Amino acid sequence: MKVALLSGGVGGARFACGLVSAVDPGDVTVIGNVGDDLDVLGLAVSPDLDSILYALAGLNDEERGWGRAGETWEALGTVAALGGEDWFRLGDRDLGLHLVRSRALRAGEPLSAVTMRLAQALGVEAAILPATDDRLRTWIDTPAGSFPFQEWFVARGHRDEVDAVRFVGDAEPAPGVLDALDAADAIVIAPSNPYVSIWPILAVEKIRAAILARRVPCVAVSPLVGGRAVKGPADRMLARMAGGTGPEHVAACYSGLIDALVVDESDPAGPLAVRRIVTQTLMTDLDASRRLAETVLGAAA
Ligand code: GDP
Ligand code: CA
Repeated sequence: MKVALLSGGVGGARFACGLVSAVDPGDVTVIGNVGDDLDVLGLAVSPDLDSILYALAGLNDEERGWGRAGETWEALGTVAALGGEDWFRLGDRDLGLHLVRSRALRAGEPLSAVTMRLAQALGVEAAILPATDDRLRTWIDTPAGSFPFQEWFVARGHRDEVDAVRFVGDAEPAPGVLDALDAADAIVIAPSNPYVSIWPILAVEKIRAAILARRVPCVAVSPLVGGRAVKGPADRMLARMAGGTGPEHVAACYSGLIDALVVDESDPAGPLAVRRIVTQTLMTDLDASRRLAETVLGAAA
C-alpha cells in the first residue's frame, strides 16, 4: 500500500515513525512543511523536514521533542559569547546538517534533492520531500502585529493570539510530490498543527488541487486529544479561528480535502461532515504510533 503523508514537525514525525513500521518504508512518501524554514547565522534551517529526518533515522531527542539526541550546545555558547544570533537554538550535531544543506543550496541544488540525499545518508528508506523547492514562508497576524513564523513561535514563545495565518511566495510542488500523491493508495494528513504545519503545504496550489481531485481516500488525524493540543498552540488557534476545539473544527480546516477524521476517544461526539474514526491517538511510544497508523490505513482501505 503506497502512502503519501502530509506532515509538520514533531507530531507528524511521530506519526511517520508509526507509519513506516506499519507498511514497507519504501512505499511511504512524507511531504513536509517548509513554511517554518528560516535563515539562522547564514544557514538554511528546515525545522520540520529535520524533525521528520531525525525521527525516521532514529536520531531524534524524544524527551526534548525536537532536535537530536545526545546534543551539545558548544557552538551556540560561542555565538552567544560573541554577541551573535542565539535566539534560535541549534545544537552542535544539528549544525553539521545545516552546514551541508546550506552549502548544497548555495551551489544551486534544490531543497528536495538535498533532502533526499541527507535521508539516504542517514539510512532512511522512506522518501522525504519538501512540499516545494520554492521559497514559501508562513506569516502570523496577531493583535501585536504580523510576524514571520519563527519570530512568533520561538522568539515570542507563541504567546500572541493568532488572527490569521498567511503564506507568502508563489510555490510549485517539489519534483516527486505530485507523482507521490498520484501513485498513493491513501493520502494521510498527520496529527500536525492544521494552520501552521498542514496549511502551508496546501498553500501550494497544485498540491491542494491534486488532493481535491483525489481518487483515493484522504484521512486526517486530529492533533487534539480531549480538545487539547498535546503540545503547542493548535488548540488556542482552533478556538480563536475556527470557533472551537471539537472534531468538527479540525475537520473544517480540511474542508473538501478529507474523507475521514481520526479522533481520540476522549474527544466530544457530535455531527461531523466526514467519517469519524475513534481510537486512542496519543503516541506515547512506537507501538502506539504504529497502532494509530494501522487504524488510519484501515480507514483508508
Ligand atoms: P511542529 O511542526 O514541530 O509543531 O509539529 P507538528 O505540527 O507536526 O505537530 C504538532 C502537533 O502535534 C500539536 O498540535 C500536537 O497536539 C500534536 N501531537 C503531538 N503528539 C501527539 C500525539 O501523540 N497524538 C496526537 N493526536 N497529536 C499529537
Ligand atoms: Ca513546524
